[in-house]
Amino acid sequence: MTAPFTYTANPSRVIFGSGTLARVGEEIERLGLDRVMILTTPYQAEEGQRLAAQLGDRAAGVFGEAAMHTPVDVTERALAEFERSGAAGIVSLGGGSTIGLGKAIALRNDAPQLAVPTTYAGSEMTPIVGQTENERKTTQRTPKVLPETVVYDVDLTLHLPREMTVTSGINAIAHAVEAIYAEGANPVLGLMAEEGIGALMSAIGRLGEEGMGADPEARSDALYGAWLCAVCLGQGGVALHHKLCHVLGGTFDLPHAQTHTVILPHALAYNAPAVPDAMEQLKRATGSASPAAAFYDLAADAGVPTSLRELGMPEDGIDQAVEIALENPYYNPRPLEPEPMRDLLAAAWAGERPA
Ligand code: NAD
Repeated sequence: MTAPFTYTANPSRVIFGSGTLARVGEEIERLGLDRVMILTTPYQAEEGQRLAAQLGDRAAGVFGEAAMHTPVDVTERALAEFERSGAAGIVSLGGGSTIGLGKAIALRNDAPQLAVPTTYAGSEMTPIVGQTENERKTTQRTPKVLPETVVYDVDLTLHLPREMTVTSGINAIAHAVEAIYAEGANPVLGLMAEEGIGALMSAIGRLGEEGMGADPEARSDALYGAWLCAVCLGQGGVALHHKLCHVLGGTFDLPHAQTHTVILPHALAYNAPAVPDAMEQLKRATGSASPAAAFYDLAADAGVPTSLRELGMPEDGIDQAVEIALENPYYNPRPLEPEPMRDLLAAAWAGERPA
């Protein structure tokens, strides 16, 4: 039986392939923009300059100061630069931090955005913006910040470092996993989630010692999977896994993608008894009788951290994390109870493999 559902798609245009960066100019024109400001992190500023040269007169400048967690003071500097340059729109070239800066600008001035993602984090397909001020991160959901156009160019991901490839990929997988069992789940997202998880797992599984490196087939499967998982995050809900990652990131300053990688197997093991249908879908997506163990093995086999201990979380922080997670909980299919949650975090802290 098909259960009742509601489905709302987010209106964004997606260009996917190899060499698609060359199409950014025509896509800017399609958006009706004369000139755009390019955003990057300091690390990717040179790539931003190359894109500016490619765009010629359409480039109004490069703002290369995007930073983790979208600090408001950086956004204010970028906004001043945007106004000074006479740009009419934004091109965000980079990962979730850079795309987050573009969204924070759009939140304030409604500037159209074209995102060119270079990681698998997925912010480009979501109407969600997180911002940090006075060491507090707040998140809001508004269609104002959804990028109008997203250009996925596989070539830009060919040299994504090995650890980031794995952790950013598992971060994406976590979006799809929770979309399957969160509030707002629907059959279309279920299809996308299953396909997205399968594509990413297969691509990460082909990771060699040097990373997927210049293996364009594995890289295109990974980016395709990341897009599908990003749609899941943008249109679906989240649950305990994302709540724990937000609490751990905020309270102990743990790194974003690595924290998702460690928590996913344990959060899924916690919820598994409450979501039998979702588990059937995840078994198909992972090709494993235990999806939680499969996600753990994916990280362990690739040699990335599988414990909160390795990420620098103090063991005596577990009780505090449970307390904060319970203060203002998200929807979750299995009731949130302090003792089992403590066990979940203790297992994640020690890096135990779930059954
Ligand atoms: P990031 O954007 O912080 O990038 C990390 C570093 O890697 C940066 O120096 C960046 O320049 C570099 N980098 C990016 N692509 C590269 C590539 N192809 N090759 C080499 N280096 C590259 O990391 P991220 O994981 O993409 O994003 C994490 C941030 O995104 C977090 O702050 C998270 O909260 C946010 N996020 C937001 C949403 C949302 O919907 N709002 C969704 C997912 C993530």
